[in-house]
Amino acid sequence: MAWTNYHTHSNFCDAVGDPEEYIQNAVRNSIKLLGFSSHAPVSFPVYGMMKKDRLPEYCRRLRELKEKYKGLIEVFTGLEIDYIPGETGPDLELFNTICLDFKIGSVHFIGYEDETMPWQLDGTQEQFKWGIDNLFDGSIRKLVEKYYSLIREMVKKEPPDIIGHLDLIKKNNPGDLFYSENEPWYRDAIEETLAVISESECIIEVNTGGLARGRTDSLYPSEWIIQKCYELSIPLTINADAHKPDMVAACFPEAAKTLYEIGFRELRILTDEGWKPCPFTEEGLELSMIHKR
Ligand SMILES: [Zn+2]
Ligand SMILES: [Zn+2]
Repeated sequence: MAWTNYHTHSNFCDAVGDPEEYIQNAVRNSIKLLGFSSHAPVSFPVYGMMKKDRLPEYCRRLRELKEKYKGLIEVFTGLEIDYIPGETGPDLELFNTICLDFKIGSVHFIGYEDETMPWQLDGTQEQFKWGIDNLFDGSIRKLVEKYYSLIREMVKKEPPDIIGHLDLIKKNNPGDLFYSENEPWYRDAIEETLAVISESECIIEVNTGGLARGRTDSLYPSEWIIQKCYELSIPLTINADAHKPDMVAACFPEAAKTLYEIGFRELRILTDEGWKPCPFTEEGLELSMIHKR
């Protein structure tokens, strides 16, 4: 049994550790297919994104490591690309002309906090409150609905391979501080979004990052949303969103158990021939069924 992970940061963006440290930890954690996904460069000055002029070095370094660890683990090169209309997105020409094996599309920014700086929705609680009050007339519902409408727009206009942390908006909603996921308008926003995703080729990641770092008490997305993904036959993959080398497979057995209990029997894996379904249990993926080298 083995694992895969396609959401891995490193010191090319906002995480600690060289990619090689992540690879070594991945090998120790039975990961056989590892995708790197640094935060893609953006044109505004915000902390944590890769600098554009480091892209060639990123591609080169990951290619070297792919060769070095061949036979032990397969390394893929990706980026976590923000969708910000008029600014950047998974289909930006720059990202179509470099070394990428796959793309994660994520929404971390909505609107602008001043003329040039997009507002980040997963910052501190204070920044979150500021955004609700100043950009959405004090209405959390307006913010949440805008967030999911951006995800739908991304899926329709610039579909990535993987949709990053679908319900990231809940990061700043601990203990239902601002809303309950049971509210009809929240459920409607999710259902409308899943309907659009089910018409696309996109994979939803089950992201263990929030849970593993103690920032949320559940997976991204929440279990009831994963249940709806099952009903709609939306394909999933389990990703760590690792920002530390020892977190490359954090909470994977728990996540796999949750999916298995809901009814999933396959996850998507990236091979040299593209994305394929692969059988799994809570002990991991049966890569031998798929992955011939
Ligand atoms: Zn992210
Ligand atoms: Zn990430």
